[in-house]
Amino acid sequence: MLEISIIKCLSDNYSYLIRDVETNLVGVVDPSEFEPVDSAIIRSYKKLDYILNTHHHNDHVGGNKKLKQKYNSKVVSSKVDELRIPEIDLKLSGGDFFKFGKTSFEIIFIPGHTKGHIAFFSQSEKVIFTGDTLFSLGCGRIFEGSYEQMFNSLNKIKKLPSSTKIYCGHEYTKKNYEFCKKFDFNNKFLRKKFDWISSQLNNNKPTIPSSLYEELKTNIFLRCDSLSVKEALGMNNASEEVIFKKLRDLKDHF
Ligand code: ZN
Ligand code: FE
Repeated sequence: MLEISIIKCLSDNYSYLIRDVETNLVGVVDPSEFEPVDSAIIRSYKKLDYILNTHHHNDHVGGNKKLKQKYNSKVVSSKVDELRIPEIDLKLSGGDFFKFGKTSFEIIFIPGHTKGHIAFFSQSEKVIFTGDTLFSLGCGRIFEGSYEQMFNSLNKIKKLPSSTKIYCGHEYTKKNYEFCKKFDFNNKFLRKKFDWISSQLNNNKPTIPSSLYEELKTNIFLRCDSLSVKEALGMNNASEEVIFKKLRDLKDHF
């Protein structure tokens, strides 16, 4: 069993403290910065065996060096980014498994936001850490990869069990909702989700985790095959991938 706690970092980042209950191994996913992660560790497990990074951006690896120094942790990330992940120890590729005590994480290679971006997926726990690739109601900007790569990466995530809980890198849900609403205005699931998002944020609570089931019904970037979305864009005959590109461009300037 895996315990997961959410740590707010910087202005809108989330880092995740994880513990494999059977073996008491402790890890952190995407430590944006040292202080809040260190405080969470001091308050809870008092050790840190592993640091897991989804990609090399500073708001996901900013705490690596000091945390590793203090706790003698091992840094686990993408082989493609071995030169850009600070203090990397374990270099993994898509299809590899990372054994975290009794919890096994499959590495899913999901380039697009960056060239080396990976997700950590546990089949037994039905949990995925998606970094800046899939957000609740959105997807990451394409900085280094191509539209095609991002589209394919999202499709890989779409194929996972729909009960999979999604832990992403940022609290962008409300802004993402505004965009979804603009081009998916008849989606009743989206409206329902908005009430929940508002109540979470009003109570100073995260909108994370989401689930793949919910995202498939509400996240416009996973709904590029929906006729209502195509119609809203005036692109009824366009392919799913063309719709994705159009939405990604529109979102960049939203
Ligand atoms: Zn990023
Ligand atoms: Fe980020």
